[in-house]
Amino acid sequence: MKKKAGKRLHHLCRSLFAAALVLALAGADLLPAAAVTWADVNELKDEANSLDAEKKELEAQLDALADDKSQAVARKELLDQQIANTEAQIANVQAQIDEYAALITQTEQELTEAEEQEAAQYELFCDRVREMEKQGEVSYWAVLFRATSFTDLLGRMDAVNEVMKYDQGVIDDLKALQAEIEEKKATLETSKTESEAARSELESKKSELDSQRSEANAVIQELTANENETEAVLADLEAEQDALWAEAQRLSDQLVAEQAANGQSTESNPGGYIWPVDSRYITSTVGGRASPGGIGSTNHKGTDIGRVGYTSPIYASKSGTVIVSQYSSSYGNYVVISHGSGNTTLYAHMSSRKVSVGEYVNQGDVIGITGSTGNSTGPHLHFEVTENGVRVNPLNDGAEPKMGYLTGYTLSKSA
Ligand SMILES: [Zn+2]
Repeated sequence: MKKKAGKRLHHLCRSLFAAALVLALAGADLLPAAAVTWADVNELKDEANSLDAEKKELEAQLDALADDKSQAVARKELLDQQIANTEAQIANVQAQIDEYAALITQTEQELTEAEEQEAAQYELFCDRVREMEKQGEVSYWAVLFRATSFTDLLGRMDAVNEVMKYDQGVIDDLKALQAEIEEKKATLETSKTESEAARSELESKKSELDSQRSEANAVIQELTANENETEAVLADLEAEQDALWAEAQRLSDQLVAEQAANGQSTESNPGGYIWPVDSRYITSTVGGRASPGGIGSTNHKGTDIGRVGYTSPIYASKSGTVIVSQYSSSYGNYVVISHGSGNTTLYAHMSSRKVSVGEYVNQGDVIGITGSTGNSTGPHLHFEVTENGVRVNPLNDGAEPKMGYLTGYTLSKSA
């Protein structure tokens, strides 16, 4: 009631003001000099100028804002690249660790063998001495120990020289084996030290990766924090996504036409789809959704599968030919597979792609690894299915069972 009364009062004021203005203008016609002065005009001109300046300032701010946002998108892109680089480094260090592990196992085995051989060789040497003593040929140890002087010793050594020569081979082998064992022990120590170093490098690379990932996700969250400011950027990303999707359909049609011209079968897999990841947790379905956190499309075009982390394998949902495998600011790392006339599947936001364009993949083959690249605030798989050139919902909702569609999933509250 109070509001209504206020409104009416406001209206009344405006009417009175309008009437006063009409009167003033009417008066101005009669008495121009008294009603309007140059000062009034100049004041208005000043005001116009200042408004114009303000407008330009606002435009500049908006431009700066747009720049900030596209810079953020570019930053995310660079971060995605950095993440891919760190992942490659991690894979490299992991391979090194595996190599070291194999080397250590191998060296340990060789060492055991050498030690066994040494023991056998030493046993052989002892046998020789015992044998000669038994035979009464010569007891050169006894001979040497009985030396009364250095000269006596040298003389005795001459006497045992022949026997020594005979056994020298056994002794040399023993010495060589001992040297080999020492060397292997040193190699083992080095391998273990280097492996430890690689392990700690791996740990630091992993934490580097974690911080790069949270930074990348923060960039997108920052982008989506103020809806008004970022609407344009998100619209751009969506437009990009639409254009990429349309291009994928064009490529699929082209492939089917080529296959038909070559007399090849164009239906690569008439059967159903399989889950593209091991998770069955759906965070967003095809169609309406209230853009959670202002992120992504408000009219979602795919199925988002969450709880996949950054290292889960992504499987080809159906057999077919890879027609797209690339990075974009919206889809991030994504792959599109053509399954025949008007039928494609698209997998987005991968941390890495495992297939290239032109490759034929069987249903269930690993085509990439889950991630959060592109317009994505956290790891999930964005999965799109197109049939007869139209995006469809691949989930079997139960109300009307659809043959070959996906079942056994859980919908998150926001889906
Ligand atoms: Zn999505």
